[in-house]
Amino acid sequence: MKFETSLALLADVLLLSSLLTPACGITSSFGTESSTGAVCVAGKYDLDRSGSLTDRTSLGQGIASRNLQAGGGGRSSVTDSISGRDGSGQGFSLTKTASVDGSLQTSSSAAATPEGGVLSQNTDLSGDGGLFAIQSVSSGNIVAAAAGYSGDGELASSISAAAADRSALSGGAQVMGVDCFDQQAADFLSSGDLGMTVSGLYQSGDELQRFGLSARNAERSGRVSEATYGRITTGTYGYYNEPSAFVIQGYRWTDNPSLKLWVRQDSALTGEGLTAAAAVGSLSAAAETWDGAVAGQSLFNDVVSASTSVNADRYDRNNVHAWKYVASSALGYSRTWYTTASPMTVAGRRYNRALESDVVYNTRWGWTTDKSRASVSRKIYDVQTVATHELGHTLGLGDTYLNSIYKWDLSQIMGFYDAPQRELGVGDKTGIRTIYGN
Ligand SMILES: [Zn+2]
Repeated sequence: MKFETSLALLADVLLLSSLLTPACGITSSFGTESSTGAVCVAGKYDLDRSGSLTDRTSLGQGIASRNLQAGGGGRSSVTDSISGRDGSGQGFSLTKTASVDGSLQTSSSAAATPEGGVLSQNTDLSGDGGLFAIQSVSSGNIVAAAAGYSGDGELASSISAAAADRSALSGGAQVMGVDCFDQQAADFLSSGDLGMTVSGLYQSGDELQRFGLSARNAERSGRVSEATYGRITTGTYGYYNEPSAFVIQGYRWTDNPSLKLWVRQDSALTGEGLTAAAAVGSLSAAAETWDGAVAGQSLFNDVVSASTSVNADRYDRNNVHAWKYVASSALGYSRTWYTTASPMTVAGRRYNRALESDVVYNTRWGWTTDKSRASVSRKIYDVQTVATHELGHTLGLGDTYLNSIYKWDLSQIMGFYDAPQRELGVGDKTGIRTIYGN
């Protein structure tokens, strides 16, 4: 029961990659007790034939420590955990799991007594469909992070977890070279019913693939909110511009948010041959596209502003769009912070409350506000098209192409980027009206 929150979180990221089912598996479990309580170490390893595994676990009276090293070259997954329970029944657990169809290298060291423990790990994944998750469960709170990508990508995690009366994460994770988790995220998630989600696109061959990270903290003393991740799958599927082709992320803004959008004005922007005025123009048009789809709500403030002093990727309650160099094939990503503490119910569906949403455009690729210059093959992207897609995430919509039956419904802005598209599809409109409509 206590894993519900983190499982919902995992389910969100599991959408990124199909579950890998390697050929052979090893499970291990060791426990020790003392007068103060009990400690348990457990592992589950599914490694390709070329894989290697060293697990050194030592147990004392009420003390356990482990050093694990594992590697694989095919379909591999590794889960290791350490948990404890003191004499009064208070428990904690620290778990990490990684899977990929490609190269997996992971090492971890963990130590625990019945009162608490730490799990430090380094994991590198590359190849098809990588997934990494870590969680810490204690009597005070549950904190978890899950990251992954579809396609042929890469992920590096050095996130560590600690638990005693409370749980905490520290460290960092890069997915497709993007800093998806860092100390700022760890601090944001240290207390309160809060979450953060990063959702990005990257170029893999001729295709765009998805990457991202979800992290959440849930307090256990007060009310623990359930996540409302879910997908609408009702209705019949038409191949083209299907009204039910939308995905609800599970967060929304309060009614009439009139979100103020900012463009960061700096040399990264002008280096793309863009002026602040041109970027503001594209962003205003993208915002107006969503605003125009919902009657009776002001989703965005009509005035988009440029400033040299605003920053993306920083929780400061400013919604900032910035151009940044990311040394990877990432095209762009949105990062949304939300609280699960005071969910809203709209038409019978529960939503967490969004707090801030930033968007980053990677200057490794070309950007234009003139759609006749945009070209996927030349890797020049239309700002307004991508802004409209990313603002869909800001408002609470997910990527439709993750849902296989909607994958090729290219009329939705929340689908693949195949060419400039500045209008919403019918599914996009149904989706946004489902979240905000009356
Ligand atoms: Zn997206």
